[in-house]
Amino acid sequence: MKRICVFCGSSSGNDPIYESTARELGNLLVQGSIELVYGGGDVGLMGIISRTVMEGGGKVRGIIPEMLYEKVPHQNITELKVVKDMHERKQVMHELAEGFICLPGGIGSLEELFETLTWLQLGYHSKPVALINVNAYYSYILKQLDKMIEQGFLKREHRAGLLVSESPMGVIDMMEKYHAQYIDKWK
Ligand code: AMP
Repeated sequence: MKRICVFCGSSSGNDPIYESTARELGNLLVQGSIELVYGGGDVGLMGIISRTVMEGGGKVRGIIPEMLYEKVPHQNITELKVVKDMHERKQVMHELAEGFICLPGGIGSLEELFETLTWLQLGYHSKPVALINVNAYYSYILKQLDKMIEQGFLKREHRAGLLVSESPMGVIDMMEKYHAQYIDKWK
């Protein structure tokens, strides 16, 4: 993989473990010569991971909608692309990235993760999608996915399309071994 898109909080959370995990992931991207694609802001975990990659000598591409560009701080990165709106941002992120990782975050991160998973489930792409469940932060979400399977709203095979690990190293490892397997939602 040459480029990975990371979805993560525009806040840093209350436990320092979230910042250290974002740093850890940034350092792994640098070591693997993998470019970071992300939301473009210098806030929260987004700021931490982009600074870590830049300081480590890696490459960072930020994709930011006009409205956020005016409002939020952004630092010097390899390329900051200003796009019309959130829809165009996602389209560009999806075109650039060969895989997706979600770090802890809020509603924005969840929305990005679940849209990417939806597109995978429908066969619009076949790229790996991974969740870093550090500090058991996403355990309730994972339980909800199990509930969806139990209640007949989600296929087990589609749930398995989400790669989950507690650590950045764990998800990178799973993504490297990932083989796309399309399971038709309509059968
Ligand atoms: P949240 O998890 O709600 O903090 O939202 C973070 C996600 O939404 C990121 O992955 C970004 O793509 C996007 N986002 C939210 N806030 C910002 C911001 N201030 N600047 C750039 N992107 C943002």
